[in-house]
Amino acid sequence: MAKTTHAAALLIGVGLAAGVGVAAAQTLNLYTARHYDSDEALYDAFEERSGIEVNVLQGDSDQLIERIEREAEASPADVFMTVDAARLRRAEAAGILAPVESAVLAERIPAELRHPDDLWFGLSERARIVYYDTEVYDEPPLERYEALAEPRFEGEICIRSSNNDYNQSLVASLIAANGPEATEAWAEGLVDNMARAPQGGDTDQIRAVAAGECSIGVGNHYYWVRLAQSDDPADRAIAERVGMIFPNQDGRGTHRNIGGAAMVAGAPHPEAAREFLEFLSSPQAQQLFSAGNNEFPAVEGVEPIEALMPYADYRMDDLNVSVLGENNARAVRLMDRVGWR
Ligand code: FE
Repeated sequence: MAKTTHAAALLIGVGLAAGVGVAAAQTLNLYTARHYDSDEALYDAFEERSGIEVNVLQGDSDQLIERIEREAEASPADVFMTVDAARLRRAEAAGILAPVESAVLAERIPAELRHPDDLWFGLSERARIVYYDTEVYDEPPLERYEALAEPRFEGEICIRSSNNDYNQSLVASLIAANGPEATEAWAEGLVDNMARAPQGGDTDQIRAVAAGECSIGVGNHYYWVRLAQSDDPADRAIAERVGMIFPNQDGRGTHRNIGGAAMVAGAPHPEAAREFLEFLSSPQAQQLFSAGNNEFPAVEGVEPIEALMPYADYRMDDLNVSVLGENNARAVRLMDRVGWR
């Protein structure tokens, strides 16, 4: 776990709430699984506006959850930030989150992007999309996730392993849309269609499509944007060759997930935590927050980065993202049963 400091060293231990070392200044302790340079600008803007100093502890999402559990009452953590509703669900299940009552958040963040009891808030949107090889297909070869299981795609599909939260959440969304039986049959068909045993991350699926190893891949949208904006011409050539499909535009919309944040139960600075979360929902912060990872802003009316403008009006599945967490265990068991490694 990498510890980085922003304005001041993060002081771990019981003394912190009393303000050891930062006597009069108001502080906010942020435990985050995000690691984007642009986040610094976000913290600076908040400090300038509020006078509240942001101390940052970066780490792996599950490790941060464990750490907050271990620190228990002594935890200095005020705000926990991570990506994927399944991970927010794990934090929720660990009992480390507290609800935030805020009219500002309720107004700005669409209901389907926050926890029904305000235990966490979605701040950015990511779409899990289908990639295809434009040298194999002149036209997008499919329009719906459901089609990934069709026998016509036998041996064509690259997708990462089932232990990945992104895939678990995709399957959780299919369970919500089509029911568990249909989704299990779908997963079986998908496994039959795999070009290779699941391996690598999302970017590796895009690379495999561009390399002709598979003609169809599944991954989050921002990995493509990253390649398209890379300094390396080879990466840009990959993005050039690979087409994007935002599935299910004619129906429920494309499966989306969130980057989100929550107040930690027993936060030493609950007011600062609320203020910070509200700040993150402001138009200025929304732009910085979503741009950090080439995501879509969660707040309506805020424009995404230039590269995403063509997709800004695409239909996204308006299933409450908390359902992704609720269906997670079922999704994992189902993927296991069909041999999705
Ligand atoms: Fe990612």
